[in-house]
Amino acid sequence: MIKPSANFTDRMCRRIGILDRESPLVANQRMIVLVFLFHSLALLACIPWLFSWWGVGLWLGGHYLYGTLGMTMGYHRLLTHRGFTCPRWFEHALAVLGVCCLEGTPMSWVAVHRMHHQHSDQVADPHSPRLKGFLWSHMGWFMFLNPNLYKVSTYERYIRDLFQDRFYKRMEKPWASRRIYIIQWLVYLVLGALVGLLTDGSAEGILQMSLSFLVWGVILRTVTVWHVTWSVNSITHIWGYRNYVTRDQSRNNWVVALVSGGEGWHNNHHAEPRAASHGQRWWEFDHTYTSIRLFQMVGLASNVVKPKRRMEMEQPQEEAVAS
Ligand SMILES: [Zn+2]
Ligand SMILES: [Zn+2]
Repeated sequence: MIKPSANFTDRMCRRIGILDRESPLVANQRMIVLVFLFHSLALLACIPWLFSWWGVGLWLGGHYLYGTLGMTMGYHRLLTHRGFTCPRWFEHALAVLGVCCLEGTPMSWVAVHRMHHQHSDQVADPHSPRLKGFLWSHMGWFMFLNPNLYKVSTYERYIRDLFQDRFYKRMEKPWASRRIYIIQWLVYLVLGALVGLLTDGSAEGILQMSLSFLVWGVILRTVTVWHVTWSVNSITHIWGYRNYVTRDQSRNNWVVALVSGGEGWHNNHHAEPRAASHGQRWWEFDHTYTSIRLFQMVGLASNVVKPKRRMEMEQPQEEAVAS
């Protein structure tokens, strides 16, 4: 077993009150098991007995609720880049939706993503496809030991602002975020049982609907939201066009943008990380930004950061080279 790095000591963790006290290697092994287990369980959606239109609705609706509002709006545009402000309770609610996606705690996700922006496509980038290939950037980087991601100094450097909020520190306690995820399972199982009771009434109908809610609404949705997030790390640093000349290899990819609520306009995002809107041209539809505007209209979002470089759009690199 690899010993924790010098910065990753029990004493330090207890003092700050954050970080999993297991060794980085154990955390990586757990991640490998989780990814394998969830992909295997997601195959249960292929069983006709577990199919229901309720499940399909929960799967698609869950992509918006947890993927778009939790991950994209909450973890990414709000917590990482502070592209807008909102009431503290609403910020925490978005963070809880993000936790339900099983992509790490708010602090760990934000730290890794800020590291990515600071060192995009350079050696210190945790998940650049330019350095180790597509598969590595998609789902390999978090399965292999990267001691930098487990150092307290990394957290202190990248998420000083989140340290000020007790809520995010509590999320780092062992079992805090896992408890939220398990509660989510129970809620879906109970709701499914209730719907089964009202629509069918038989014991088999109740069991079938309950499991359908769990498989389609939680497990399959968790796996597909994972791949959507991972595609932003991998695909949008390889394939697509560029509106801006940036020091990294970020690209705008319409397929990723379509399934990720606008995150696929990744070159625009790297050009102006704080802008709440990632779509810049008229066809670059960004439904996360549309949601932010809707929340702004009802008073739940304010100080929305607008893109500044809109009128000085740079020529796509390929065209610039050709001319
Ligand atoms: Zn990027
Ligand atoms: Zn970002």
